[in-house]
Amino acid sequence: HTDMDPHAAPAEHDLETSLRPRTLDEFVGQHRVREQLELVLTGALRRGSPPDHVLLSGPPGLGKTSLAMIIAAELGSALRVTSGPALERAGDLASMLSNLSEGDVLFIDEIHRIARPAEEMLYLAMEDFRVDVVVGKGPGATSIPLEIAPFTLVGATTRSGALTGPLRDRFGFTAHMEFYVPSELERVLRRAAGILGVDLRPDGAHEIARRSRGTPRIANRLLRRVRDYAEVRADGAVTLEVARAALKVYDVDDLGLDRLDRAVLGALVRSFGGGPVGVSTLAVAVGEEPATVEEVCEPYLVRAGMLARTPRGRVATALAWRHLGVEPPASAPG
Ligand code: ATP
Repeated sequence: HTDMDPHAAPAEHDLETSLRPRTLDEFVGQHRVREQLELVLTGALRRGSPPDHVLLSGPPGLGKTSLAMIIAAELGSALRVTSGPALERAGDLASMLSNLSEGDVLFIDEIHRIARPAEEMLYLAMEDFRVDVVVGKGPGATSIPLEIAPFTLVGATTRSGALTGPLRDRFGFTAHMEFYVPSELERVLRRAAGILGVDLRPDGAHEIARRSRGTPRIANRLLRRVRDYAEVRADGAVTLEVARAALKVYDVDDLGLDRLDRAVLGALVRSFGGGPVGVSTLAVAVGEEPATVEEVCEPYLVRAGMLARTPRGRVATALAWRHLGVEPPASAPG
């Protein structure tokens, strides 16, 4: 699934880093989140104490990592980065926490995948800036309380629903990241084109933005692909015509759906008569992990009005049927 591949070539990663917005002002869109966060950060700066812990929730590629970096930068604090899957043992987290300096920002990506013992250690750390380190084994084991420096935890998750209640409750502020509208993605693209030195024409920007699944990371990636095409097969300018031709080569359809999106809709419509069908069954049908289908693919299909999540399973809407070129049955939801 190329458009989402987090393991892209190193050079592409470097580019992604250079394209990251550095300040809240440079961060395009997400007006509510930006306004709320600005108040949280300014309040904390005025009081001279670390702000409440922040949870960033939303589909991949919407700027959660960028926002975590911006939070640290705006506070003038150091950023420490880890992820839920990396914190398998509580000891890993304990050493991370005890190495924090006052005011540091600790970023835990995919925090919903943190292991139970580490999660329980996190409760105390978030609440009292303390960890209990267990020394020894069996009946002779004792736990030694250890003070840690006051810090701010920024957690990111693609599934806030998968967080346990006690963990969610310890975040003082939750930012819900939304898909971006095309005009915002055009701004993201213009900014990226400026940094990369791409001759991006307004109609080209419009076309790429429209087909980026509401996601800045995808917009930036498509821009790089269209630029390749423009340089190799045209005169370098990214026009509407060039964008259309390039996106065809890269299998991005007219609505911006990629291969996996189309595979999911295709299975839903052709193998399961439009549903309802459970997400695990759907995932098996397209050869993907249920989590990928649920967290990467479905949010945009729902947002685009092509898939509905019902208590009995996933259902294709009439729009999805038509998009696949099949006449919808009367039972398909509008
Ligand atoms: P994941 O959840 O998968 O880690 P993410 O939501 O953290 O993804 P980022 O890695 O922060 O996403 O963003 C991906 C890229 O998209 C950034 O490198 C940046 O170029 C661009 N980007 C994201 N959000 C914005 C924004 N609001 N304004 C400008 N560029 C953005």
